[in-house]
Amino acid sequence: MQAFITQLQTFLKPSFLLTVEIDKAPYLTDWRKKFTGKALAVLLPGTTDEVAKIVQLCAEHQVAIVPQGGHTGFCGGATPDTSGSQIIMNFKRMNQILDVDVANQTITVEAGCILQAIQEKAASHGFLFPLSLGAEGSCMIGGNLATNAGGTNVLRYGNTRDLCLGLEVVTAKGEIWNGLKGLRKDNTGYDLRDLFIGSEGTLGIITTAVLKLYPLPISQWATLVATDNIASTISLLNLFQKRANSLLTGFEMMTRDSLDLNTKHFPHMSNPLKGNPPYTVLIELSDHESEEHVKDLLQSVLEEAFESNLITDAVIASNLSQANLFWQMREHITLAQAEEGANLKHDITIPLSSLDSFITATDQIIRSKYPGVRVINFGHLGDGNLHYNIAPPSDRDPKSFNQENEKPIMELVYGQVERCQGSISAEHGIGQLKLMDLRAHKGDVAHDLMRALKTALDPQNILNPHKVISI
Ligand SMILES: Cc1cc2nc3c(=O)[nH]c(=O)nc-3n(C[C@H](O)[C@H](O)[C@H](O)COP(=O)(O)OP(=O)(O)OC[C@H]3O[C@@H](n4cnc5c(N)ncnc54)[C@H](O)[C@@H]3O)c2cc1C
Repeated sequence: MQAFITQLQTFLKPSFLLTVEIDKAPYLTDWRKKFTGKALAVLLPGTTDEVAKIVQLCAEHQVAIVPQGGHTGFCGGATPDTSGSQIIMNFKRMNQILDVDVANQTITVEAGCILQAIQEKAASHGFLFPLSLGAEGSCMIGGNLATNAGGTNVLRYGNTRDLCLGLEVVTAKGEIWNGLKGLRKDNTGYDLRDLFIGSEGTLGIITTAVLKLYPLPISQWATLVATDNIASTISLLNLFQKRANSLLTGFEMMTRDSLDLNTKHFPHMSNPLKGNPPYTVLIELSDHESEEHVKDLLQSVLEEAFESNLITDAVIASNLSQANLFWQMREHITLAQAEEGANLKHDITIPLSSLDSFITATDQIIRSKYPGVRVINFGHLGDGNLHYNIAPPSDRDPKSFNQENEKPIMELVYGQVERCQGSISAEHGIGQLKLMDLRAHKGDVAHDLMRALKTALDPQNILNPHKVISI
């Protein structure tokens, strides 16, 4: 491998080609500390041309590449294996916002742009870039695109896929495909852009993207409401969809166990609703008309919900900082779980019409088979997306409980997902974590088609091998 490294040294400075263990260490473990790998080197390219040159050399020397953004993904997609033969290509140097096109309502960004920096740049031009998630201060747009990230605004604006108009991608041969036209209509054959989005670095390396912008709303109102059960929560969602239509921008559900965990680790995050309700729902309306319009609408829908016995309590945020606090409550659940120790995560989607059946049946079976476990069930309910996580009983060592029960609990949850025609990965992707689960649940025909695509686009299997699909 010395020849490979020597060739890299001809165009990458030593500070951008890390081969010493201590320098590589920060890139080897994911955010959750679930996966740790080894790497031949960590490369920090600064331009698309450098990315292309690196890929060409990797193809020549048959070296596998693990693309890496903020390393906040939950499925180990950006962590190398333990062979020490793969390189990590981290995008933090490619963090330029290249253009804001006001007339076309688009922003062109390099893959290493931090999501929050894109949101802020858009806002400074009076636009909203709607992708929003708990890791937005550290995840990068390349990672968001590669995982087709979801987040809290999918209900109104769609997943990352829906927010992207164009891509520049380096292929497995080291060629540069420029698909950065930023068109809202382009029916010229197969949609290459959509192929790369969500492919987790296994089909090509994203270097630049053109993203959609929207007008910034004039007013946003957030409310927390209490419901007694999941059936009422879904009826409440349907009521808001009917009355508020496209003004409904957030509908997040949190169970009692989830918020109890929050309060345990972050006492200032206590629930302002009375009596620690079974379900707390965070609802957000956004409006381009006026403060009064959206506030009146919110109050009238809440009144209707009270009258129909869908909700038992409600608190409307009286100002922006209280609204932010409501959102922090929701975002802190992931952090509280990390503080609590290892837990069994399931990022799933269920059709809304089957959610009640899924939650009622799965909760009941899990609680009776594993007494004392805490069901940390929360998520983007408006999209049918649950983070259906299982925390071990408080008196059990999390590591040994998880080792013993991870597989049967996962099979139980995924069995219920299949019964309800859901998906075993809603927004976090497959990575290395769910490689075998995809094989088991995607269906033979779909799996074979995916394999055919991978083989066609990356015949040497050098792009993030053994992630998403094994060939
Ligand atoms: C607190 C917290 C909250 C979160 N909330 C959400 C949420 O609400 N919704 C959600 O969807 N996710 C969520 N996530 C998961 C994660 O933040 C997202 O998946 C994010 O999109 C990953 O971005 P990243 O830059 O960290 O990617 P990484 O973790 O670095 O990489 C993810 C995958 O993308 C590939 N990749 C990275 N860059 C490129 C590139 N330039 N070209 C090709 N492939 C590339 C990697 O190889 C890997 O397979 C959350 C994570 C945390 C820590």
